[in-house]
Amino acid sequence: MRGIWLEDGALSLRDRLECPKVNRGEALVKVTLAGICNTDLELVRGYYPYTGILGHEFVGTIVEAPSQPSRVGSRVVGEINVVCGACEYCAAGLSNHCAERSVLGIVGRDGAFAEFLRLPLENLIELPPAVSDEAAVFVEPLAAALQIREQVHLKPEHRVLLIGAGKLGQLIGRVLAPVVSELVVVARHSAQVELLEKVGVKVIDEAIIGERSIDVVVEASGSSSGLDLALKAVKPRGTIVLKSTYAGKASLDCSRIVVDEVTLIGSRCGPFRPAIELLGKGVIDPTDMVIGRYGLAQGLEAFKAASERGALKVLLEPGDVRGNM
Ligand SMILES: [Zn+2]
Ligand SMILES: [Zn+2]
Repeated sequence: MRGIWLEDGALSLRDRLECPKVNRGEALVKVTLAGICNTDLELVRGYYPYTGILGHEFVGTIVEAPSQPSRVGSRVVGEINVVCGACEYCAAGLSNHCAERSVLGIVGRDGAFAEFLRLPLENLIELPPAVSDEAAVFVEPLAAALQIREQVHLKPEHRVLLIGAGKLGQLIGRVLAPVVSELVVVARHSAQVELLEKVGVKVIDEAIIGERSIDVVVEASGSSSGLDLALKAVKPRGTIVLKSTYAGKASLDCSRIVVDEVTLIGSRCGPFRPAIELLGKGVIDPTDMVIGRYGLAQGLEAFKAASERGALKVLLEPGDVRGNM
């Protein structure tokens, strides 16, 4: 099969990859659409040494499920952490932190930028007809945005600042706006600003953000200047949520964290079902973020488009006939 392979920081399009063989309890999924996310771009830059097929945001159809054949034909999205079910974290209900986990397209498991992928059946969630493929490909990042609401007790009176309005920032803005009275966003690119304003989220100039004026800051820019701004803006006893992975190390003024007793929270994957529900009800429609669709044959061009400064969501269509000729 065809897929996009990462090895030693170099991406390549490979035509003769072996189609995955499903293990007990797993399903083979034919990928319909997959999204390129900043984590993919960071993996190419080397934030974590990964060799294999990239990609973890997808929607597809189950084509093989030996232990549950009735599920063949289901249109699904998939939780990306594949866990052992037996370790200390799994036992505590924190299976996303399973010590033995593999993660689709990120850690020890081939990903979604290919014609087929394999995942345990328990990871695959069937989609209601109301969620289109183009919306469903956002379930994983939308769930990651929703994780902030799981981790931080947001109160209506909180002033919230979101730094960064890229692929993930757009979703975070849409998820936080309805639950706090004041959300302001720092965005650098006009297309990002336009989309946020269209959904009623206020974008402001970072120069007018007062020092120690914000209750909860969400850092989603992945830049060290974003971290500096977060630290400047947060109130004493306030919270900073880190939502980006950083290639390399970021520097941080730790004295400020100590003196002002700032809480720093790392935040990664989130709950899929609430994300599917928000998409199904049309509460959030992320499809306006799509800036391009490419067949796998144009996969490297797709990565180039996704890496442009300020680029929003680029999708890959592994089954696209034009792309596979
Ligand atoms: Zn992602
Ligand atoms: Zn485990």
